[in-house]
Amino acid sequence: MPLSRFSKRHERTFGKEKEEWNGDFRKPPKPDSYYTKIKGQCRWCGNMIVNEDGTINERRSWHEECATEYMIIYHSREQRAQVRKRDKGVCNHCGKFAMKWDVDHIKPLVEQRDVKEEDLDWDYYKLDNLQTLCKPCHRLKTNSEVILKKNVKKKRKISYRSLKKFK
Ligand SMILES: [Zn+2]
Ligand SMILES: [Zn+2]
Repeated sequence: MPLSRFSKRHERTFGKEKEEWNGDFRKPPKPDSYYTKIKGQCRWCGNMIVNEDGTINERRSWHEECATEYMIIYHSREQRAQVRKRDKGVCNHCGKFAMKWDVDHIKPLVEQRDVKEEDLDWDYYKLDNLQTLCKPCHRLKTNSEVILKKNVKKKRKISYRSLKKFK
């Protein structure tokens, strides 16, 4: 169940036209089922929402856990609330309770930059890939990611070149 209010807006946009993804890897494109026109189909996972008696619940268009997963990706407040609930403000690196902390992606989200829509790795966006880091630890990690980012770029250049060689 999402911790922040899951707005009625998402229910009302049922059957919305598919919009084109602007390529922002921080806000990945929504799955086709998000634009579903089928009553009782979950807009996130695309499976049907089934009542306890096995019939399809046509009044709903989200599984609760799917709504949470969606909110974690697209609503930073929900993302923070979920991490807070799990970690209780304890930094995952130094183990100290932190008054000021950041939500950090364990596997850096930037690795999804320039990845094609169909190749996106959704694990990067899930709660399991999020951790609490106190400000000093986060700074430390961000600094090391700058190096990592450079390496990623270099690697890609090399593979592109070797690809050309093969042609
Ligand atoms: Zn679902
Ligand atoms: Zn720390």
